[in-house]
Amino acid sequence: MESLAVLAYLIAAVCFIMALRGLSHPESAQRGLVYGMSGMALAVATTLMLPVVQAYGWIVAGVTIGGGVGYVIAKKIAMTDLPQLVAAFHSLVGLAAVFVAASAFYAPEAYGIGTAGHIHLNSLIEMSLGVSIGAVTFTGSIIAWGKLQGVITGKPVTFPGQHMLNAALGLGLLALIVMLCMTESVPVFWGIVALSFLLGVLIIIPIGGADMPVIVSMLNSYSGWAAAGIGFTLHNNLLIITGALVGSSGAILSYIMCKGMNRSFISVVLGGFGGETSGGAQDMGDRNAKIGAAEDAAYIMKNAASVVIVPGYGMAVAQAQHAVREMADQMKKEGVNVRYAIHPVAGRMPGHMNVLLAEANVPYDEVLELEDINRDFAQTDVVYVIGANDITNPAAKTDTSSPIYGMPVLDVDKAKTVLFVKRSLGSGYAGIDNPLFYAANTMMLLGDAKKMTEDIVKAME
Ligand code: NDP
Repeated sequence: MESLAVLAYLIAAVCFIMALRGLSHPESAQRGLVYGMSGMALAVATTLMLPVVQAYGWIVAGVTIGGGVGYVIAKKIAMTDLPQLVAAFHSLVGLAAVFVAASAFYAPEAYGIGTAGHIHLNSLIEMSLGVSIGAVTFTGSIIAWGKLQGVITGKPVTFPGQHMLNAALGLGLLALIVMLCMTESVPVFWGIVALSFLLGVLIIIPIGGADMPVIVSMLNSYSGWAAAGIGFTLHNNLLIITGALVGSSGAILSYIMCKGMNRSFISVVLGGFGGETSGGAQDMGDRNAKIGAAEDAAYIMKNAASVVIVPGYGMAVAQAQHAVREMADQMKKEGVNVRYAIHPVAGRMPGHMNVLLAEANVPYDEVLELEDINRDFAQTDVVYVIGANDITNPAAKTDTSSPIYGMPVLDVDKAKTVLFVKRSLGSGYAGIDNPLFYAANTMMLLGDAKKMTEDIVKAME
């Protein structure tokens, strides 16, 4: 049975790798999900058939309650709230790591890692790493959820000596881990848990606004490492492999996002970003924005040779993707070359815009990433920016005092005409003004993204 289980775990691990590979492109994403689900089903079924599993009552109850709650949430959740949901789910992974470590600490015989008071040293090290990473992930993810949900302020919460305090707590945690390995003391174990909970809160509160995507991905990575640590404690190879896959893919995604924003990972983790108001805001007070109507936009776009559509968070909120597709179809009928430009952090999660456009059946070959389309804006007649703001803000290129200075942005300002659909002249997620609203070649189309786009489609017809 044991060698069969090892084989099944190996197949499941291959499924997970295929799932990650599939998820790297919208066309193969569904296949990737099927691989992931099959791998997980095989892993769970194999574990349940192991001789060590003696009673199914609690397991069935857990799966029913957890699966039921998960099903209802997944059915109900709005696409725009997915980042919060991911953060909330990560918190549960962290908490699960804490529970597993605690039960292994109290009943080491059941886990084959020693006897009470005589747990093997390597198991103690794995356990304390798993429990501390898990506890940091738990509270850190709750704070990330609160910030994304708007329950707590999205602005960085900073105070003097914050980094020193975090460093001191980190050293304290390390000291407690050493003590636990030497003494196996129960209060020290719970001291590690408490200190890690506190550290999770303190690490995430100074991080604000535009850095949240990196943090969600970083917490994803932490939850993977916590699972891998617990995998060592449980002698479960599949958990080690899966945890390492989640841990490393989350870390790579964080790195890619940092590169996308031209920020160093360290500066993101140290926080304090996105709380200031833009330096560019001051010199815009007496400037006027040109406001247009749907009919103007329809006329301009129908007579253009090339149009690039730049979707952002507002398109997701308004669920305007289908109207956008219809608008593109109308333009294509008129012989307009229509393409879409996707910024790596557009919306509220990586790939957010790709998912919405795929849902509206926008052909993949019309959807281009920032580095593939940025040079084309100078030769583009019209850019239709729908519900996007920060990702187009030229202050990132010119204003050294802007908090987003250095972040690569879509060079929409280089196009002949820029049409901006949003409800007001207000700021986006990073809380900073966008000088583009007042540029000579910009026309603001103020209104809900879906309603405005539908009106444009009507005007085109
Ligand atoms: P922004 O948040 O910068 O701007 C979105 C704009 O959409 C707002 O200015 C808002 O303006 C407008 N809007 C909101 N609702 C509607 C509506 N119903 N109809 C029309 N417009 C609407 O979004 P971007 O996509 O440009 O940039 C993403 C930002 O989010 C970046 O700062 C990024 O760092 C951050 N972020 C990204 C994540 C990711 O992984 N992609 C995750 C978390 C944060 P108004 O109120 O005037 O309508």
